Amino acid sequence: MADNSNTPLRAVKGMNDILPPESARWEWFEHVVRALMRRYAYQSIRTPIVEPTPLFVRGLGEVTDIVEKEMYSFIDSLNGDPLTLRPENSAGVVRAAIEHNLLYDGGKRLFYIGPQFRHERPQRGRYRQFYQVGVEALGFAGPDVDVEVILMARALWRDLGLADVRLELNSLGQTDERRAHRAALIAHFEAHRDQLDADAQRRLQSNPLRILDTKNPAMQPLVEAAPRLLDFLGEGSLKHFDGVRAVLDAVGQPYRINPRLVRGMDYYNLTVFEWITDRLGAQGTVCGGGRYDGLFDMLGGKPTPAVGWGLGIERVLDLLAQSGVEAPFDAPDAYCIVPDEAAMPMATGVAEALRLTGLAVVLHAGGKDGLGGMKSQFKKADASGARYALIFGATELAAGQVALKPLRDAAAEQTLRPLGDVGAWAGDLRTP
Ligand code: ATP
Ligand code: MG
Repeated sequence: MADNSNTPLRAVKGMNDILPPESARWEWFEHVVRALMRRYAYQSIRTPIVEPTPLFVRGLGEVTDIVEKEMYSFIDSLNGDPLTLRPENSAGVVRAAIEHNLLYDGGKRLFYIGPQFRHERPQRGRYRQFYQVGVEALGFAGPDVDVEVILMARALWRDLGLADVRLELNSLGQTDERRAHRAALIAHFEAHRDQLDADAQRRLQSNPLRILDTKNPAMQPLVEAAPRLLDFLGEGSLKHFDGVRAVLDAVGQPYRINPRLVRGMDYYNLTVFEWITDRLGAQGTVCGGGRYDGLFDMLGGKPTPAVGWGLGIERVLDLLAQSGVEAPFDAPDAYCIVPDEAAMPMATGVAEALRLTGLAVVLHAGGKDGLGGMKSQFKKADASGARYALIFGATELAAGQVALKPLRDAAAEQTLRPLGDVGAWAGDLRTP
């Protein structure tokens, strides 16, 4: 498409630029996440952002919010392939695990961090490109691993300094149990057909369980009164559920059993859970997950137990802001002031030598009108947050020295350092 106008272009609606200084909060958050994954020995996996459309239709279920109305699907105009921007990452991870026989030597504990895409109505906590952290524990069947992933989220709240996130828990049982429950559910909703909204009417036969997941407040009383799936669970499912509860009790993690917690994808069975906060309004679920023992099979792999969760990064960062948690400010150690172009080669060499020792150093750079005066350079040094200025003045340079000026301590004196041996004094600039 030709576009010869020069009106400025804007980002796609619901897709956000993450700019400094906000981006520093993201970097810090991801750093905390990676440190957490290391402690639990979860390994990183990166799958493509674009997948074949049938992966999600098969994996998530045809009658789900995502597949029905939220997917960015298109035909690759170069070869006719039906493709979709991934709306979630579990299906991609499982596809990759099957494709590369990742579980040939036993279970795998994996995590990802990355963008997901859903065509939803943009609002606070709901975007069209949003970011998730997720964990997937593949090949482990026991309730102990359900608890492991639940506790990883708890550890993350602690690492971040978040207090107000609570755990809700449910069990979706197994297929035959859901089938029995389904019949009871349809009977219940049919008896109150007049109270069903359009979505619910449509789902009554195709996927009545999804009705429990409705966001429509008018439907709540009807949903509250619906038959509980928990009452349909057989011995095996109850044993698994009790196993999860026993370990949570043992480690002192409180939870509320929410019989209407069903989650948005068809692939879940047995344990499902959400971490919820009351501080974000309607978009209060910051992390959701559960067991999905059927997904490997649905995607053409060997039946393999699996459990995981996905967490919305925007919502967690919003919650951090609401809770007054600040990311640590990562200021540079030094700002190099270069009064004259002639000093630039020397300043560059010193900055490089300092960076080699691990210090964060800004080397002043000019605009269209050159480097600018000392005063404006000092202003920039101050604004950068650097704790020291290094001043490459002509007199000092002639004497083989550079001036070191503390910027955050008015009482401290400016001193001189030898240009010949940067390594000897680099340590003086290090953050205590
Ligand atoms: P919701 O019920 O809020 O629509 P969901 O059940 O669709 O959430 P999941 O698919 O389980 O959510 O994704 C896990 C997490 O990802 C959610 O708990 C939420 O924190 C986040 N998330 C989901 N959709 C969005 C979105 N459109 N924008 C921002 N974050 C999102
Ligand atoms: Mg959703």
